[in-house]
Amino acid sequence: MRTLIKDLKENELANISGMVYKVRDTKYMVFIMLKDRSSFIQVSVDKQNEELTKKALGVTNGSIVSFKGKMVLSEYVKNGGKEFLPEDLEILSLADAYPLDENALPDTRLDYRWLDLRNEKKEWIIPIQSAFVQYLREYLYKNDFIEIHTPKLIGTASESGSSVFEVKYFDTKAYLAQSPQFYKQMAIASGYERVFEIAPAFRAENSNTNRHCTEFTSIDLEFAYIDSYEDVMHMEEEMLKYAMKKVKDEYGDLIKERFGIELVVPKKAFPVIKLQDLYQELKKRYNYEIPERDIGDLNAETEKLAYQFAMEEYNSEFLFIVGYNKAKRPFYHMRDENDNPLGYDLLYRGMEITSGAQREHRYEKLLHNAKEKGLGEDVKFYTEFFKYGCPPHGGFAIGLERMTLLMLGLDHIREAEFIFRGPNRLHP
Ligand code: ATP
Repeated sequence: MRTLIKDLKENELANISGMVYKVRDTKYMVFIMLKDRSSFIQVSVDKQNEELTKKALGVTNGSIVSFKGKMVLSEYVKNGGKEFLPEDLEILSLADAYPLDENALPDTRLDYRWLDLRNEKKEWIIPIQSAFVQYLREYLYKNDFIEIHTPKLIGTASESGSSVFEVKYFDTKAYLAQSPQFYKQMAIASGYERVFEIAPAFRAENSNTNRHCTEFTSIDLEFAYIDSYEDVMHMEEEMLKYAMKKVKDEYGDLIKERFGIELVVPKKAFPVIKLQDLYQELKKRYNYEIPERDIGDLNAETEKLAYQFAMEEYNSEFLFIVGYNKAKRPFYHMRDENDNPLGYDLLYRGMEITSGAQREHRYEKLLHNAKEKGLGEDVKFYTEFFKYGCPPHGGFAIGLERMTLLMLGLDHIREAEFIFRGPNRLHP
């Protein structure tokens, strides 16, 4: 039976198995560093045992090995003073020499993603992401949300401007969902008051940036009986604070040590600023003027400066932005009496992580807004949801990879996705 390294007891015979990450041959001893999912340990082979030494010297980095022996405490050993003295070893899988080293180019790293993830920093990205998702779910279940699973193969081309992937579907065409937006609202119309989904979304955006993937994981939620989009902002803020605190409790020290960055759990309310006021602040403080084509929206430069502003003015890594132009927002966002959309974006460490809004649940108004955007028949299946009773509601979407990227201070989104998908990346 296998014992996990963390469960080893002093002087008790046990079998441990794991991956070798270093072999050191010295005059009297061979040291093998072994890692399993729980911890790591130095396995020390005495060269007086010739047979075992021969086997130990045949072990390479990355090999999967089982040892039978005892853990002992030794003052000479670093990392808690534990070492493992083996009686026997069995190589379960012998690894070839690695085809990449620390100087490997990003593309080579992606080709060998599973090896790149053995790196002592990168190995933590996915477990920390997993913990973040676990705590988000925990928060949402505690708050009466149910998890839904919406189709990713869809029959009509979609709700927003961003491009969709077309796929062959028997003798017709289908598309890959770029967001579960319509379906999560359909769930509200079904009578489920609080729903969420954490699932892939596909965007056929042929741009190579450090923040876009063609397939990413969207954390989507939608809930009913809200009074305003501010309720949506509040829900998001509370959810993020909850999950970030739990991630920090579990991984805060490790994040600091391996990624060299502090995970800061916000204590105060996230500051809110109107887009026009933000433009003015950026002009005043940094002499920055938004280019004409981006007016009514944010671009990467504005987001970066907005971060600087939020830190200087509020000491906050998060910043809510409201007061968008209806031309830049989808037709399903509710609008106020002046026809301004009741939605927001959330920036974290200088990057957009979320769009959210109160949705238009009134059928006639929705038809009007759709028509204004030149949409009619194409969104009919969606507008029908609001014909037979639908409560006021709102929601948002957070990109999981963006959040991971920012929490861990990574330099590119390809590192924040287990297996990256971009315009030039369909493998492995
Ligand atoms: P952007 O303007 O940055 O391209 P967007 O306005 O298209 O984003 P939304 O459609 O509002 O984004 O999606 C909500 C969230 O999903 C974004 O804030 C972001 O966190 C994430 N997201 C959107 N597109 C991508 C993508 N291509 N890759 C990774 N995450 C994305």
